[in-house]
Amino acid sequence: MTRKGLIHFRCRYCNRKLLGGWDQVGERRTCNCGERYRVPRYPGLAQRDRTLVDWCVEFVVYGFGGGLLSLFLAFLIVRFVPATVDTLAPRLLILGAIPLLGFLGGGLFGERGINWIGSVVRQIEE
Ligand SMILES: [Zn+2]
Repeated sequence: MTRKGLIHFRCRYCNRKLLGGWDQVGERRTCNCGERYRVPRYPGLAQRDRTLVDWCVEFVVYGFGGGLLSLFLAFLIVRFVPATVDTLAPRLLILGAIPLLGFLGGGLFGERGINWIGSVVRQIEE
């Protein structure tokens, strides 16, 4: 079943009102302001047509956020490991591996990934 009518949405950049048909969902267009977008599935804001550069920037930004949060998480976990010479290797592994995973998780899953790491930190803190 195809839906009739038009989707009303706005340009993320200049907030101009835009229209698209249901059969045009996903279509790449350029707004008058020069912002490239895709016709969204739902009314609201246009989906940005993300370039590889946008993707890389987001990966680094969210990855960095996830990495920092995970470093904090790693410090929380490491407190439970007795600080002796025998446990030096596992402690370093925790402090190295968890932030790295956090960086990848934040980068790949963006805000969702960071929220998830945040909820784990809160659980441990309590
Ligand atoms: Zn625009």
